[in-house]
Amino acid sequence: MAAYPTLKMLIDGEWIETGEAGTMAVVNPATGQAIGHCPKASPTQLDAALKASDEAFVIWSRTSGADRYAILRRAADLLRERAPAIANVVTAEMGKPRAQGLGEIAGSADVIDFLGEEAKRKGGRLIPTRGAQLIAQMVTHEPVGPAVLLTPWNFPVNLPAKKIAGALAAGCTAILKPAENTPASAQLLVECFVDAGLPKGVLNLVYGDPGPVSEHLIAAPSTRKVSFTGSTAVGKQLGALAASHMKRFTPELGGHAPVIVSKHADFERAVAMCAATKFRNAGQVCVSPTRFLVDKTIYDQFVAEFAARAGKLKIGDPGEDESVEMGPLAHGRRIAAMEHVVADSGGNRGEVVTGGSAIAGSGFFFQPTVIANPAPDSRFMTEEPFGPIAGVVPYDTIEDAVRIANSLRYGLAAYAFSGNLDEAHYLGRALRAGMVGINQLIVASPETPFGGVGDSGFGSEGGEEGYLAFTDTKLVMMAKAGG
Ligand code: NAD
Repeated sequence: MAAYPTLKMLIDGEWIETGEAGTMAVVNPATGQAIGHCPKASPTQLDAALKASDEAFVIWSRTSGADRYAILRRAADLLRERAPAIANVVTAEMGKPRAQGLGEIAGSADVIDFLGEEAKRKGGRLIPTRGAQLIAQMVTHEPVGPAVLLTPWNFPVNLPAKKIAGALAAGCTAILKPAENTPASAQLLVECFVDAGLPKGVLNLVYGDPGPVSEHLIAAPSTRKVSFTGSTAVGKQLGALAASHMKRFTPELGGHAPVIVSKHADFERAVAMCAATKFRNAGQVCVSPTRFLVDKTIYDQFVAEFAARAGKLKIGDPGEDESVEMGPLAHGRRIAAMEHVVADSGGNRGEVVTGGSAIAGSGFFFQPTVIANPAPDSRFMTEEPFGPIAGVVPYDTIEDAVRIANSLRYGLAAYAFSGNLDEAHYLGRALRAGMVGINQLIVASPETPFGGVGDSGFGSEGGEEGYLAFTDTKLVMMAKAGG
């Protein structure tokens, strides 16, 4: 990999290398070695970013949709041009295989394009009036104001891209605070917007300890909208803070996606797709398929084939070997989290069929793990593992499968495989989730809304909803000036 970039914050158009609150190390999770040092913003530096985004809002919110689109379009093109270099940084910071990083970046450019285009497309509407005196009732979508964007490390380009593009397209300004362990991925994305000609102050980038930085930014009077992706626990805390200041809040939180495999499914296709998708990004995906609910007549065969495929995955440092299929977990505490889940198996709590342990050596590697028949109240079945652990549970009837699938408070993604049309429609309707995939495991595209229900959050990113999330609805009712 070329040299790791020097980390800098972007405040009011200036790249700033010095963090007045000190620095924090950035570690390559495949080696455990520090690859860079990240500046931490002081409250004064955060206030400078807040002031910049507040002042820039006056101009940016009045810039035409066509002009906003033109800048976003150039940023997307720059991101595509720079993808090979940025993918290397993504791999070094969070351990994603390079091909997956390239896919993430290509998808991010498409999201920026789509949301930029919404700036040109999204008008309001005219509502017919009652009575002759009223001549127009106009509904418009006004930019909500300066936004604070808080993003995690698992999609260190795509998640910031979705939030930045939604905010900027809608006419909002923004301060991005990316995850502590993936700052350079976010910085290289932000550089694309700056080099595309974004006026100073419209997009700011700060780093630091997530708790205090987020609290400072959310509580600031100028902040009008907060968009957060991360865990349910932190989402609840930040949501409470946003509510206490009456700030708009969009939380995209954890999930524990069920996958129902019916006896009517194309078995080989389903098991191949499930095994390949489960371990993508080492399972560190909020919509990762995780609880596999399989008809009891095909359960044994599913467990055997799924586990065999999991056991054959090539694991290693993706920065050293491009053919690696699964890299390390993003940081050391994820290993402890996996061990915590596996510890509650064995006996009648579930059988670890393959994997189950950390891999010795440097870096944060954990074996792809399959637990057969985990107990309903086991940690696996009740807590989001957010890692390379899958569980397989047999079911008697399709209604039982839906009951198990819907039994948690999470409701982000849910999936089902069935070749029976009536059953497929039933599952699409009955699964309680913000997104349902039938006969496939993809629930994200630039044009479609992405978001959950229950403890997985509310609101959407992506699609037209990703634009509208950064707007307020406004009504102008106009009457004749005189009699
Ligand atoms: P973590 O909660 O320590 O950190 C996850 C993210 O939240 C990081 O980006 C971090 O910067 C941020 N964060 C942490 N504390 C915060 C605070 N007080 N205020 C604002 N932001 C804060 O957990 P982790 O071990 O790094 O990651 C695993 C957990 O995070 C899982 O529970 C998973 O649900 C969640 N997560 C979810 C997503 C997602 O896409 N929804 C992505 C990454 C992590």
